[in-house]
Parts: sequence; structure tokens; C-alpha cells
Amino acid sequence: MSPPRIGVLALQGDVREHLAALRVCGADAVPVRRRAELDDVDALVLPGGESTTISHLLREFDLLAPLRDRLAAGMPAYGSCAGMILLATEIVDAGVPGRAAIPLSAIDMTVRRNAFGRQVDSFEGDIAFDGFAEPVHAVFIRAPWVERVGSDVQVLARAAGHPVAVRQGKVLATSFHPEVTGDRRLHRLFVEMVAGRA
Ligand code: GLN
Repeated sequence: MSPPRIGVLALQGDVREHLAALRVCGADAVPVRRRAELDDVDALVLPGGESTTISHLLREFDLLAPLRDRLAAGMPAYGSCAGMILLATEIVDAGVPGRAAIPLSAIDMTVRRNAFGRQVDSFEGDIAFDGFAEPVHAVFIRAPWVERVGSDVQVLARAAGHPVAVRQGKVLATSFHPEVTGDRRLHRLFVEMVAGRA
């Protein structure tokens, strides 16, 4: 069987780290900046970065509607940090009107942007992750947390009492950045989800 072709939305953010992590896990990983590239992938990673900037660029690159359509049609996706914010149905503190982060509604959840504080309040810690034998070393950088989840959403990890990793069907989101730690379990889980094995 050929490896799944997984795109990384490459408008802004830590694209290279996700591409490298996905390749280590056996995926055919490619950057996605254009409509034709989006049409060509089996699944998409939305990286960490700045959700308001990525939202603005999704509009500028005419990717907003096509991406919404693919997600609505069931394309598997994984969002870390800014990517988690974008996958939500509702965003609290989304930013100033006209430049706010846009919810793509792939996971039935309300996310609070910058919930863990400003850049100086970024922190790391080991957290239990549902299905993993060993804890995950989670790096939070001006991270969101989840304030509400719908009944179809599984909470996979928590920090400070809030969900920070969630899954709904084939869509996964984490407040933290596994792409920066060298721990490939999250990317492996996503590749297995895309391949229909997890
Ligand atoms: N605070 C950023 C945002 O609102 C997310 C930070 C990150 O992705 N590391 O998008």
C-alpha cells in the first residue's frame, strides 16, 4: 500500500517541523499553499503559528472555502496550537474584528485563544495522554485550551484542568507542539488515523 499523502498548510508557522515528523512516520508529506495542492492530499496538518495570520492568508490564497469544504467532507486533519484554534467551531478571544481567527468547524469545541497567557508565560510539562503508556512532554507556546467539547469529542489529555488534546473522528488537535520535541507518537497516531488503523 502506498503511504498516505499528508499536506502541511504552509502559509505561516512551523511547517518544516511537521513535514519532518510526518516523514519519519512514513507519510508522503508535502507543503500546501494552493488549491490544487489541497485537492491532492489525503489529509492536512494545520501547524502552530498565529491563527489570525493564518486565517488572513487562507482568505488571501482563496483556500478558506475549499478547506472548509474538504473538512466538511471528512478529510482527516491534525491541528497543533494555532491549528487547534482553527479547527474549532467557536473561538473565544479570536482577535480584533476583520483580523480575527476564523473557526473551520472540524471539531465540535470552544477554544480559548492565548488561554495560557502571553509568550512569556509559555511552559512545558509532562502530561498523561490517553492511549500512550508514557507521558508526553508537552510544550505550550501562548497556547489555547478547550473550554467546551461536544458529545462526539474525546478528550485525550488535560493540563491545568482543561482539555489540551482532543479527537473527533479523524480530526485531532493539541494545544501543544509535539513537532518540536522529537517525540513522534502524536504524528504516528495521526498517520495511523489517516490510514484507517487507529
Ligand atoms: N497564540 C497563537 C494563536 O493565537 C498560537 C500560538 C502557537 O501556535 N504557538 O494562534
